[in-house]
Amino acid sequence: MSTVRAGNRSASAIDWAARRADFPILNRQVHGKPLIYLDSANTGQKPRAVIEAVDAFYRRHNANVSRAVHTLGSEATHAYEDARKRIARFINARSDDLVLTSGTTFSLNLVAYSYALPRLKPGDGIVLTRMEHHANIVPWQLIAERTGAVIKVAELTPAGELDLDDLYAKLSGEVKLLALTHVSNVLGTVNPVAAICREARRRGIVSVVDGSQALPHQAVDVAAIGCDFYAFTGHKMLGPTGTGGLWARAEHLAAMPPFLGGGEMIKEVRFEGTVFNDAPHKFEAGTPNIAGVIGLGAAVDYLGALGMAAIQTREQALLAYATTRLAAIPGLRIFGNARDKAAVISFAVDGAHAHDLATLLDLEGIAVRSGQHCAHPLLAWLGVSATCRASFAFFNTEAEIDALGDGIEKLRKLLA
Ligand code: PLP
Repeated sequence: MSTVRAGNRSASAIDWAARRADFPILNRQVHGKPLIYLDSANTGQKPRAVIEAVDAFYRRHNANVSRAVHTLGSEATHAYEDARKRIARFINARSDDLVLTSGTTFSLNLVAYSYALPRLKPGDGIVLTRMEHHANIVPWQLIAERTGAVIKVAELTPAGELDLDDLYAKLSGEVKLLALTHVSNVLGTVNPVAAICREARRRGIVSVVDGSQALPHQAVDVAAIGCDFYAFTGHKMLGPTGTGGLWARAEHLAAMPPFLGGGEMIKEVRFEGTVFNDAPHKFEAGTPNIAGVIGLGAAVDYLGALGMAAIQTREQALLAYATTRLAAIPGLRIFGNARDKAAVISFAVDGAHAHDLATLLDLEGIAVRSGQHCAHPLLAWLGVSATCRASFAFFNTEAEIDALGDGIEKLRKLLA
C-alpha cells in the first residue's frame, strides 16, 4: 500500500505523478483509451487508502456500532467514533458537534426540518443565492410552504460572483435564515463565507453553508467561518458515497428536536415517552454507513497528509492552464470568471449540444459532466439549457487538459 507522507509541504515538493498512482481506477481504459477523469465535482475517485480501509473493515471488523459488547462490536464502534474525531478535526470542529449523515442533501434537510420548521413563522424570510444546488433550494421551499416563510434570492454579478450589495440588502427585515454555498458546483465561484456569515450574525440571522464543493479543494475551518451550520458530503472529498456530515453550533444541536426516530438516537424508550440521546447521536437514528464513515476517515487522513494548501496550489495551476487552453478554442464560452474560483470550468461550444459533446468526449476516454448540474435557476440565469463541466482534482495532468482541448476542437468541427 502506498502511503502519503507529504504533510504540509509545498505543492512543488509533492510528486503528483506518484499520488496519481494512488488511484487504481485511473489505470483503466474507456472505449480503448486511457481514462481521463474530469468529473471530480460530481464524485471524487477513491485512493487505495480509502478502498483498503473499507475492505479491511468488512474483512476483519464488521459489526454494528454502539450495540454489541463483543470484540467486533467494540472494534467497529471504536473505528467509527475515531473516524468521527478525525473528520471533525479536518474542519477544526469538536466531534460532539459533528452529526454524521449520508451527505449534504441529508444534512441540509436535517437543518430545514429540525431547526427551521419549528421556528419559522409566516412572513419570516429565508435568503438563498442564485448559484445554489437544488439540495440547498428545495428543502427551503418545502419548509417555506409549511411555515408561510418567504424565500428571497441574492443575485450574481456578470462574472458569476455573489452580488454582495444585493445580498446584504436582502439580509434585512424579517429574514431569519441565510443558506448559501461555499463554492458553486457550476461556476466554481468561492464565496467569501466568513465575511458573509459575520454580517448575517451581526443582523441576528442564522447561516447555513453548503460545503460540498469546498472541502475537496481547500482547507475549511468552521470556527473561522463563523457560520451556524456547515454541511458536506464525503464522496466528493475522496470518501465513499452515502457519507457526509453536518457541523452545527452546540447550542443549536442541543435545542433541536431529532429529525428521524429509531435505534441509536435514544437513551431510554418507554411507551409513555422516550428520552433522546445527546448530540450528535440524537440525530443519527438507525444503523449508519459504518464502513463508509471509516472510509471517509481514511480520506481525510489522505487529504490531510498531502495538505490542503498544497492541493489548492496544485489545482489552481491546473485551473489556470485549463482556462487558457479552453478559452483559446473558437466558439467556446466559459461560464464563471470569479476572482476566487475552484478548479471547475463550465462551458458551452457554439453549435454543439452539451450532451452530444460529453458523449463524444467519452468515446475519447474523457469523462466530463453535461446537463443542468442540479442548478436549474442558475442555468436559467445563464440563459442556457445545459453546459459541459470539466472539474479537476490534484491527480489530473496538463496532458489530460490538452487532450480535452484537442477533443473539443475535433468535435466542434464534426458537430458544427
Ligand atoms: N451542494 C452542492 C454544491 C453540490 O455540488 C452537491 C452535489 O453535486 C450537493 C449539494 C448534493 O450533494 P449530495 O448529493 O452528495 O448530497
